[in-house]
Amino acid sequence: MPVKNRFAELMPEITEWRRDLHEHPEILFETHRTSAMVADKLRAFGCDEVATGIGRTGVVGIIKGKSNTSGRTIGLRADMDALPILEDTGLPYASKTPGAMHACGHDGHTAMLLGAAKYLSETRNFDGTVAVIFQPAEEGGGGGKEMVDDGMMERWKIEEVYGMHNWPGVPTGKFAIRSGPFFAAADQFDIYVTGKGGHAAKPQETIDTTVVASQIVLALQTIASRNADPVKQVVVSVTSFETASKAYNVIPETVHLKGTVRTLDPAIQDMAEQRLKEIAEGAAAMMGGAARVDYRRGYPVMVNSDAQTEFAADVARAVAGDCAEAPLVMGGEDFAFMSNARPGAYILVGNGDTANVHHPKYNFNDEAIPAGCSWWAEIVERRLPAA
Ligand SMILES: [Zn+2]
Ligand SMILES: [Zn+2]
Repeated sequence: MPVKNRFAELMPEITEWRRDLHEHPEILFETHRTSAMVADKLRAFGCDEVATGIGRTGVVGIIKGKSNTSGRTIGLRADMDALPILEDTGLPYASKTPGAMHACGHDGHTAMLLGAAKYLSETRNFDGTVAVIFQPAEEGGGGGKEMVDDGMMERWKIEEVYGMHNWPGVPTGKFAIRSGPFFAAADQFDIYVTGKGGHAAKPQETIDTTVVASQIVLALQTIASRNADPVKQVVVSVTSFETASKAYNVIPETVHLKGTVRTLDPAIQDMAEQRLKEIAEGAAAMMGGAARVDYRRGYPVMVNSDAQTEFAADVARAVAGDCAEAPLVMGGEDFAFMSNARPGAYILVGNGDTANVHHPKYNFNDEAIPAGCSWWAEIVERRLPAA
């Protein structure tokens, strides 16, 4: 079975929604216009229930099948938020909000799940219930966590969750997935280094925090090279190095380092956090200075459940002919909070040969819409087969 004919018919309409969303990007939890548009459309489609304000600005639509002898509910999730990027695509429907841009394709995700919701509301050719989940704040705000914390899974008795992300580099409308750990845990740290400032010509009277912090930056690289099992993945990146001195001749009293740690295994994550503190404090002490570490855990590892992944890949093969093995991704993904709460699977749909996500020239590829929508519809019709 290739893509569903109905989505070929609906494609112009879904494309129009997508481009409208693209013109009006909203960041983090500020998805007010987007959430209102989603809720209006779900009501117009005839969803049995439309709940707003879930996880602040999240929206959930409930669609009941022709029958419910299975008594089962599955969740389909899309993200709605944009990024704080100045768009440089030159598109006729480019962002009208300077400094905000749909540079991760969440406009496409929202439009595709709306298209699937329209089809499922029309046909209802399944036995059970579908929850279409639209979350805010995927890009660093933890909107998925807020929706789970709001009791979404219990309120609608959601048993499984599915997610989809467009992926530049995968052929348009093709799919890729992997079982087990898929997206990395993404943690952040600040290291505050203190020493003794002074005249640059009299280092003997100072404890030079620039040198102390430099030792720390280099020593942190041994977490990956010397502490972690070589077959396990860990990335430690120091991304900001700010000294209290703006002068040529002043040794700064303090240095502030910032960075991120990415891991795919909870034991490696624990080890990296512990070693980061030990190394920062130890390297500073070695030089007579001091370091204080503030380590914050972000999104957990996003793990695809085996059974749901196998099923999702079968559906992708039915829609697109085949399904590739996706690579591990060291980026974080907020769907982790949902797939930690319930068994689930997250799939990549090809965006073709485009600029990468988070780039000012990136654009979601509308040609992926029929395949993406068909995958959503088939997930429902195969998981909850009509009685
Ligand atoms: Zn993104
Ligand atoms: Zn994204």
